[in-house]
Amino acid sequence: MQKPKSQNREPVSPSKPARPKTARKKASKKRLTAYNGEEINEIFRRFRVQRPEPKGELEYVNPFTLLVAVVLSAQATDVGVNKATRPLFKIADTPEKMLALGEERVGEYIRTIGLWRNKAKNVIALCATLIRDHDGAVPADRDALIKLPGVGRKTANVVLNVAFGRPTMAVDTHIFRISNRILLAPGKTPDEVERALLDVIPDEFLRHAHHWLILHGRYVCKARKPDCPACVIADLCKAPEKTTDVPAPLEPLEAIEEKREAEDV
Ligand code: SF4
Repeated sequence: MQKPKSQNREPVSPSKPARPKTARKKASKKRLTAYNGEEINEIFRRFRVQRPEPKGELEYVNPFTLLVAVVLSAQATDVGVNKATRPLFKIADTPEKMLALGEERVGEYIRTIGLWRNKAKNVIALCATLIRDHDGAVPADRDALIKLPGVGRKTANVVLNVAFGRPTMAVDTHIFRISNRILLAPGKTPDEVERALLDVIPDEFLRHAHHWLILHGRYVCKARKPDCPACVIADLCKAPEKTTDVPAPLEPLEAIEEKREAEDV
């Protein structure tokens, strides 16, 4: 099993020596996952076959619009956010343009999204901070991102992963549920689950693991009733409530959709 990746590693101070290798080995044995290394490799190998290049469903045109879209998506659906941001991003795709638009006009565009008043305020404050502190660019650094108005750890992790290709794990409601339900990385809080996932997922899968887990949770391992017959990891899954041990056929999802479209013609 490869070691977890760690972001923003602090420099080792000369007065505080690095933890010896033996201590690190002991800590990694405390993993709570119900799966061994081979099983975890196989789970993510299958997710990769299904979706070789997984993508999120929020629409954006650059790191700035991605950041705004993720801020707006809190307690809202991606579909709802996309509807509101499509016309907004056509006229305001930089912090300068968004700031010039002003809170009231931004509010008019996003009125269909929950908590829109507060979000419009945050978006404007966010733009002002980006211009003042970062020359209008989105920082590729978690600490700097978290300091921006309306940006929490989850939003920062999404932006680092999607815009900058960092192997972060943004634990949303789907990832939190799956990690606990199938006992992949159980935890009481999103932070605990994030740490556990970073610990158990092999490095080669970390870049896309966030999207694979979200999409699996959204379309197959759903909140109310998991669709186990449609699940490609049903044989490996250790969820007490799973309804089958037979995995669904493993094919790239694009190929399945193309087949369906051909059958419909
Ligand atoms: S078998 Fe069922 S419970 Fe397990 S991951 Fe698949 S859909 Fe979720």
